[in-house]
Amino acid sequence: MLFTPMNTSSQNIKTAKMKSRSIHLPAGNFILSPFLLYSFLVRKLIFLLLIPLFLFTSCERKEVIDEDRIVISALDFPSYDIARSVVKDRADLVMILPPGASVHSYELTSSDVIKILSSDVFIFTGGESQSYIKELLENSGFSSRIFSLLETSPVKLKEQSEGIINIHAEDEAYDEHVWTSLENEKALVSSFSSLLASLDEENASFYAENAEEYVSEIEKLEEEIKSLVSSSLRKEIVIADRFPLLYFFTEFGLSWYAAYPGCAEETEVNAKTVSLLIDIVRERDIPSVVHMELSSQLLSDAISKETGCSVLTFNSVHTISKEDFEAGETYISLMRRNIETLKEALN
Ligand SMILES: [Zn+2]
Repeated sequence: MLFTPMNTSSQNIKTAKMKSRSIHLPAGNFILSPFLLYSFLVRKLIFLLLIPLFLFTSCERKEVIDEDRIVISALDFPSYDIARSVVKDRADLVMILPPGASVHSYELTSSDVIKILSSDVFIFTGGESQSYIKELLENSGFSSRIFSLLETSPVKLKEQSEGIINIHAEDEAYDEHVWTSLENEKALVSSFSSLLASLDEENASFYAENAEEYVSEIEKLEEEIKSLVSSSLRKEIVIADRFPLLYFFTEFGLSWYAAYPGCAEETEVNAKTVSLLIDIVRERDIPSVVHMELSSQLLSDAISKETGCSVLTFNSVHTISKEDFEAGETYISLMRRNIETLKEALN
């Protein structure tokens, strides 16, 4: 594990705030595609313009914050859920992305940037697609703690091209959806609890207990999925959508045919993709095709119309709807929905 708590015996929130932190993404571990390069440059420009605004407003904020409570900003839902499972109500936790927004297309506002830069802990997925945020943190002299899911994950990163029908040069990158591995999610929750303990010794045992409880809930879910997969008739699924589930499928010994890689920009419903997926469904007598949460479902519906197969939703916990967010749904409750999907798709 890459994250190591620093000086746990002597640190508290106030001293931690004064320490300088930096992130170290593994050099050469990611491929920078032309699309990502363009996106990176545009976002970088926006942030450079926003930094002076933060430097001005952050001075005001420091006068009103409660120094005893840790302020955590989580970029996306996978990060938010990890933080929430550990701190519960003993920190000021905010999710930067609005529910329903996609992390791949969302543009941060000046208010988002201020929230990130004025927090004690910033947690995000990290990786190539969020490298513009790393730039922001470096350029603004962000001195609080940074927790990157990718940097902390013990899971070995895999290329997202495997089993994908529409793969292009710009898609050939490492899959960044590391939370979809339940094994990895357990490690991330534990690591985040160690980070919090190093910042707030008084509540260290509270964080550790919460993390243990969450990890044991994930373990139960893991066992249920393992036994479901082992007793199922088939071990393959057709994904008529993006495929951000590489680590989940690999972990449970499932194989897949998917239309697009996990972070693909292009997900258009073209005749060639529809025809290829229809052939697979017919040849392999596949009963159901699957799409991801908050998908347009155009591709899955087109295949279902032609072949008569059913259409199911798989929740990758990448994004969360406003309704689910307000209802307090968690990584575990959303992943649990996949059990019904798997029962139908694998039998
Ligand atoms: Zn993604």
